[in-house]
Amino acid sequence: MKYLIPVENLPAFDFKKFKKLTPLIYEKTIRLSGKIKGGKIVHINSVSYGGGVAEMLRSQIPLENSLGLNSLWYTLSAPLKFFNITKKIHNLLQGKKAKLSENEKKYYLNWISTKAGKDFCYILEKESPDILIIHDPQPLPLISLLSKSKKQPRTILRLHLDLSTPEKNTLKFLKKFILRYNSVILSHPDYKFSWLDSNKVEIIYPAINPFSVKNRPMKLSQAKEILFTLGVHSDKPIISQVSRFDPWKDPLGAIQSYYLAKREIPNLCLILAGIFFATDDPEAKKIFKEVKKHTEGDPDIYLFSDPYQLKNVSNDLFINAVYTISTVVLQKSIREGFGLTVTEAMWKKKPVIGGETKGISLQITHNKNGFLVKTPYEAANYIVKLFKDKKLRKRIGEYAHKTVKEKFLISRLILDHLRIYRNVRR
Ligand code: UDP
Repeated sequence: MKYLIPVENLPAFDFKKFKKLTPLIYEKTIRLSGKIKGGKIVHINSVSYGGGVAEMLRSQIPLENSLGLNSLWYTLSAPLKFFNITKKIHNLLQGKKAKLSENEKKYYLNWISTKAGKDFCYILEKESPDILIIHDPQPLPLISLLSKSKKQPRTILRLHLDLSTPEKNTLKFLKKFILRYNSVILSHPDYKFSWLDSNKVEIIYPAINPFSVKNRPMKLSQAKEILFTLGVHSDKPIISQVSRFDPWKDPLGAIQSYYLAKREIPNLCLILAGIFFATDDPEAKKIFKEVKKHTEGDPDIYLFSDPYQLKNVSNDLFINAVYTISTVVLQKSIREGFGLTVTEAMWKKKPVIGGETKGISLQITHNKNGFLVKTPYEAANYIVKLFKDKKLRKRIGEYAHKTVKEKFLISRLILDHLRIYRNVRR
């Protein structure tokens, strides 16, 4: 197999770990898992590392396996041209005003059916899964090859994007494929399509693994030490934004918010972390160039994009350190399907200032467990307000952590998935 690559040897995660942290969910999940033990699930998405989908699958797969399911994960090995087109489709579905050309559509469908398609049919033949889950637009049209396989698995399409304002023609182009799935999982009720039977749609909020290297507690002294070895030689106050360099994440807006806040907090520093891991995001390098132009000559801005900048430190440890050292975390997105970076920072009891988007509004209730903003001016005002008021930071951070514990931990996501697996198999 050349085009669909199995992701193996993931670090084990046992669902038992959640017995204490989320006991009710734990009990329900164990009971339900007894009923679907042995079921074989095949997940397919675009990449095994980089971005929120891979982040979740890295925990979801081992956790499903620890519950007696047989969950397998495959990712696409596709040429740059394919990922350029699928990033365009991603942007169009998130509301960008542009057009997919006939040649782009042809290349996309052709690559899926002739290259990935062969491997796909082989996997179905060999594994004979009960359930097939396709994540996001990159592998979405694989569904059209299903009739060629003997045993028909139940099929689920999991879309992680902000689909509140999709470009109509792009959605129309994908519609015939989407309609072929037995179920569609979205992150927000506002992402539903009018033409899709609502009985087929499930809403599942994404979630984080509190025990992962990225999310577990870290001492401030360790965070400082890690960042010191990576060139952040600063005892000055720090704010950060952790995201791919992507126009929807609005890194330029985050930089402007920082400059405005710096007028009142002169020694303020900004870390922008967006290590280039996700091969399905070829746009990142272009956006990074622009970001660099806007930040050149400012010794208080630290940009992290190249994996080599991390030396011997793992990405997960680095991101943990960035959140831990930050007084305030920004996620100044203008579109966001959900925004796991918001969840991660909230879990760390950080006050998060997020762009008022569908996905971030699922997590942040303004003025209660974080702040929602539309402009860099608003963001800067809240940065200054939070820096001046330690009590406010503590109150918001505590509430943020509580929100994540109640709604956005991966044990809940696993229970939601098990329910769907049970229902689609009926
Ligand atoms: N991330 C990372 N290293 C980076 C930047 C981001 O590990 O340098 C991770 C981040 O911690 C989060 C994921 O990438 O787990 C981003 O998920 P999110 O849902 O916020 O955005 P997406 O990239 O999927 O649009």
